Amino acid sequence: MAIPFWLGAALLAAGVKAAPAAAGDLYPQRSTAPIIVLHPYERQVIPPAEGEFILGSVSDPTAPFSINGTTVAVRPNGAFLAWLPVSPGTFTFLCSLDLKGETTSYARNITVTPPPPPPLPEKPSAIDADSLWPKTDIVLRAGDWLAFRMRASPGHEARCRLAKRPWQDLRESAPGNYEGLQAVLSGEEAGPAAVECQLKGGWSALRAFSRGQATLNSGPPLVAVVKGNAVLRAGAGAGYMAYPLPGTRLVTTGRQNSELRVSLSPTLEGWIDAKDVDLLPAGTPPPRAVVDVIHTYASERGASVRIGLGERVAFTVDQDDEPSSLTLRLYNCVGHTNWIVYDSNDTFVEEVRWKQETTGSVAVRIRLDPAMTLWGWQASYEGASLKLDLRRAPSLAPAPASPLKGLTVVLDPGHNPASAAADTTGPLGTREMDVNFAIAKAVEPLLLKRGAFPVLTRPSNDVEISLVERTRMAVERKGDVFVSIHNNGLTDGVNPQASARGFSIFYYHPHSLPLARHLYRSYEKLVPLPGENLRYGNLMVARLTAMPAALVESAYMHIPEQEEKLNDQAFRDKLAEAIAGGLESFLAEERAKQSRLKPLTRPKGAAAKGPVPAAKPAAIAPKTAGDGAAGKPRVGKNGQKSRQPTAKKSAAPAPAVRKSVRPAPAELPIPQAPDQKRQEAALDEILSGPETKKQGAPAQEKKP
Ligand SMILES: [Zn+2]
Repeated sequence: MAIPFWLGAALLAAGVKAAPAAAGDLYPQRSTAPIIVLHPYERQVIPPAEGEFILGSVSDPTAPFSINGTTVAVRPNGAFLAWLPVSPGTFTFLCSLDLKGETTSYARNITVTPPPPPPLPEKPSAIDADSLWPKTDIVLRAGDWLAFRMRASPGHEARCRLAKRPWQDLRESAPGNYEGLQAVLSGEEAGPAAVECQLKGGWSALRAFSRGQATLNSGPPLVAVVKGNAVLRAGAGAGYMAYPLPGTRLVTTGRQNSELRVSLSPTLEGWIDAKDVDLLPAGTPPPRAVVDVIHTYASERGASVRIGLGERVAFTVDQDDEPSSLTLRLYNCVGHTNWIVYDSNDTFVEEVRWKQETTGSVAVRIRLDPAMTLWGWQASYEGASLKLDLRRAPSLAPAPASPLKGLTVVLDPGHNPASAAADTTGPLGTREMDVNFAIAKAVEPLLLKRGAFPVLTRPSNDVEISLVERTRMAVERKGDVFVSIHNNGLTDGVNPQASARGFSIFYYHPHSLPLARHLYRSYEKLVPLPGENLRYGNLMVARLTAMPAALVESAYMHIPEQEEKLNDQAFRDKLAEAIAGGLESFLAEERAKQSRLKPLTRPKGAAAKGPVPAAKPAAIAPKTAGDGAAGKPRVGKNGQKSRQPTAKKSAAPAPAVRKSVRPAPAELPIPQAPDQKRQEAALDEILSGPETKKQGAPAQEKKP
């Protein structure tokens, strides 16, 4: 495209000798100011660090430019990026541009968080009141420890107490650092109150109170019910552990600041944001779901497993090491499954087993046909029954067509107009959302050419869409695969020159790992930037379970050379080729697997396209059936009585083609690119030969 008139005007006004704007530039109108600093922003607070990066642009790239006395290299387009030492407290970057002998200056002020303070002086003795624990409000119960911590002058006797409880002497673990622990005993009630600490020195004692208040609670625990999208963390403020669905009930056992501790089983606790739950009136009984009848159903794209529970409880879904098996763990539960009913139209689920894994925790292990790839899953509640939709790999077009043919590929250009100003921005002002969108638009025609249906979560660059809506849209539009498109930014306090920087690919769930790996390889092949490795990343869009999902960080917005590349249509086309190529090779590998295994296994009718009505259990266990260990036959949540699990295979005639062939490991060919002739020959064999069925090696049993 031609130089926009406004940009030309700006360049002329500033007397710039910069190269004319190239086709594909995405950055907006640049200010005519001689020095523009885009990062760090004014008054930004950065973590304790020895240095910080600073970036922006200058009006004349040929003019000598320095920051805090250090000469800074400027790109021909005016962009600069520098890494400079900083000092704790308020710090100023003083930028100087020497324009024809006339120096123009610009100051950018930031705050560098000071490192932990040194020990307090011995005399006069003092307490650092800000150091007292708890720093935020906490609620503890019997069995917990009340921790005391204080920073004060070294070499003294120190003690703390909560309300009128006994004093606890503290030990000086390091000069000036005092610590102590006190057990919360059964039946104890105290607070809410601040913790009082004393420092004894000679004939006087100093006293201080904690900022946070502690409460000791011995009453019945309160029950919380999850309101919307929520996360259970492994500890207060720690990593994600589970995603309880709305209506899930949880027993609260403590509180730290804005997080509630909940008990999932006597050996497992989680933490949830208090704003994500409603607390039910005191005296509400804690959740205790009974794991009841389990049904499997054939579905349009795989199978569903429905578990009767009686109430909504927290759960986790884990793909096992064996790729074709997953384990659903249900918490606050007791196992009472006497019946597991398999839909004879379903060929995906091979077996379901359950086990009371620990008190309060039931593991349901679902073993799938190893010839079919688990493509994704989606858990939802239908009333009080948990439904786990399991998706098998889509049927892929035979070669020579692209394996992408007929697939819905969800492309997710990251970020939103509303937050664009605060998002990662390049030295010339290039916004990440614009680049992400331009790359997605470049991928679109490549996918169309291969016969795929691309769906953009942000169909136009001005559309505002939340992260939750993006994943919801991917599921609603029946996406087959999901790629979120982003570009990277530098981290405050980290030297950009310390390591090579380029692209990285993120995945979260194991079923997305092959996609991420293929994308990474494709980037390695096509993108002329250093690779920063394949990464596990706890990113919301990458946490999508319903289909393979990956997030690409193509290049660094902050690095001038890379910003320049991202403004080049040819480079964006290369990124698009890398994304399309990665998708294609990922799917080609799946197609190769399908061509080796699947045609032999495709059941007549059942696994064909189109929804299959859920089968009713064929037989009902008599009401008088054994009342021993197995218990009485139970009525399923759908009102159907279920029959004994063992009756299924013997009573009902097996479907004409029930199970897949699972070749012994030695028979598995080394994966290679799909070869049309080989595939055609295989197909011929399948179509003309008799329907011989080989019995595969029995699947390795694994405890759930
Ligand atoms: Zn981003």
